[in-house]
Amino acid sequence: MGRLGCGQDLIEAITAVCVSQDIRAGRILAIGAVQRARVGFYNQATRAYAFIDFEKPLEITALVGNVSIKDGSPMAHCHVTLMDEEGQAFGGHLAPGTIVFACELTIEEFSGAGFTRAPDDETGLPLWTQTP
Ligand code: ZN
Repeated sequence: MGRLGCGQDLIEAITAVCVSQDIRAGRILAIGAVQRARVGFYNQATRAYAFIDFEKPLEITALVGNVSIKDGSPMAHCHVTLMDEEGQAFGGHLAPGTIVFACELTIEEFSGAGFTRAPDDETGLPLWTQTP
């Protein structure tokens, strides 16, 4: 558990914690607020992310994610729901460019070998190679 600093890039800061603590498998939760946000929507037809920028302060009402291994290093994959000053909520795939105002981060580390990401032909995404 820890507090992320004002001005940090949210996904980059979470990833840096995973790398520095050598967390290779786990669950991520966070709440707080951001100064601005950038979230992605994966277009399944074109197989490309479209990004939406919000140039205003927002609450992080929920951030959920996981940690697995991509290209040999820990990768944090997070989705976020944000709320504006009118109480409207929206969200998406957390992208670089989301800047922390204040954030309380919790990462639960899992034991075991963890999961690995690899390119998936069916979706075009780097997905886990393991299935339940
Ligand atoms: Zn995603």
